[in-house]
Amino acid sequence: MRITVVRGDITDQHVDAVVNAANSSLLGGGGVDGAIHRRGGPAILEECRRLRAGHLGGGLPVGQAVATTAGNLPAKWVIHTVGPVFTDGQDNIGPLASCFRESLRVADELGARTVALPAISTGVYRYPLEEAAYVSLWTLARASTSVDEVRLVLFDQKAYDTFDRALEALDPSDAEVEDELRRVPEEKWRELFELADGLTTEDREFTWGGGEKNEDGVIQWPYPRYSDRLWQLYVALPSANADWMKWMSGNPLRTEPARLAGAPVADAARLATVYVRGERFNDGVFGRAFQDGSMDAIIARLRTWYDTER
Ligand code: ADP
Repeated sequence: MRITVVRGDITDQHVDAVVNAANSSLLGGGGVDGAIHRRGGPAILEECRRLRAGHLGGGLPVGQAVATTAGNLPAKWVIHTVGPVFTDGQDNIGPLASCFRESLRVADELGARTVALPAISTGVYRYPLEEAAYVSLWTLARASTSVDEVRLVLFDQKAYDTFDRALEALDPSDAEVEDELRRVPEEKWRELFELADGLTTEDREFTWGGGEKNEDGVIQWPYPRYSDRLWQLYVALPSANADWMKWMSGNPLRTEPARLAGAPVADAARLATVYVRGERFNDGVFGRAFQDGSMDAIIARLRTWYDTER
């Protein structure tokens, strides 16, 4: 499946199916929804009403998708899906990812081969653009589907730039990163896990050097002072040949590393890369990853892969 990102209007797309960022009522709204009903004409709303009179009496639940005619749009079908209203302290990622998976599932049922989708939830539903871009594209990239082309259609330049950046971070793929991990020699893995098992509280509570004037009166910029074991771990950690800066922008694994347990091992390697390469700025990011649970999550995910998956 090919994923493309274009700037444009979703109602202009000549594809088999366009996805509508609908609301639960299915009876129309603003943004994408308004544009689709305006351009598509009354046939779409009629079919939505029939769905509401039938098995969707209570409306379409968040994260699910359903198809109707595309009316006068240059497409065969509209797939309506309901994104989550972004809410602090709730799982927004699960339902947003579900919208993309379910839309592709419905597209497969219809036999659609080309599908255009908007940036679901990023309008009235206030989902932050960067995280939405990450969640949307990575969910699509990991979906199993018969769709040939998935086209993300972004309305404004900012949304386009954000999605384009997230798209570039899909390279190298999970499979390519995993191949890199397979080439890491056995003894390197054993060394890594031994070092991780031997971590002490002192290793994690690293100290800082610098900050004082030297003989020339120059103030040495503060730098983290890591234990030998932490440095050895720094060297032993496998990483991914990924554009880590692009990959980490908006990436929920930065703030919720526990999610790695359910993610492909490639993401553990990418997240390790964020901390290893980030450490070049000498700001203690590598050490902090041992304090906030990130490094434990990375090593645990690598270990599961090493023990049971590779
Ligand atoms: P939601 O309610 O899921 O947030 P919106 O329709 O309000 O959905 O917005 C979703 C995204 O679609 C926003 O980024 C918005 O700028 C964009 N958008 C609005 N109109 C169009 C259109 N005609 N084509 C493509 N994208 C659009």
